[in-house]
Amino acid sequence: MSEKMNVESFNLDHTKVQAPYVRLVGVNQGANGDRVYKYDIRFKQPNQEHMEMPGLHSLEHLMAEQIRNHLDHVLDIGPMGCQTGFYLSILNDHQYDEVIDALALTLKDVLEATEVPACNEVQCGWAANHSLNGAKTIAKDMLNKHDQWRVVFAE
Ligand code: ZN
Repeated sequence: MSEKMNVESFNLDHTKVQAPYVRLVGVNQGANGDRVYKYDIRFKQPNQEHMEMPGLHSLEHLMAEQIRNHLDHVLDIGPMGCQTGFYLSILNDHQYDEVIDALALTLKDVLEATEVPACNEVQCGWAANHSLNGAKTIAKDMLNKHDQWRVVFAE
């Protein structure tokens, strides 16, 4: 990559990362001192694996609802278009370990879920496109590699 691009992740060499991992993308501070932290939560190895859409979509609904029970000031958690991970944005200061712990608790909630929240045509834009079992498979695979989450780059 010769030229620096506007989007941080476009400057990330996706051939050098080692998924799964949790990476702090950056911190933005507003004029009043408030800070927004953005994380790259990579579930699948780029260009080798990806999450299938129905499971990914259900995982999005489940995590969006549950992570707020484990972490304060979550602004958003949303999937990447490449279907290999999620971006998580948090307002205000916290520790990296809190994010790791909250993610683990959230994924354990996913394993115990009996339904996908808000998977209906009133609350979702593609209610037919869900898979609770798919979400659980993704969550289980991620939890099984919990000890790798802090390592972003291959040696
Ligand atoms: Zn939806």
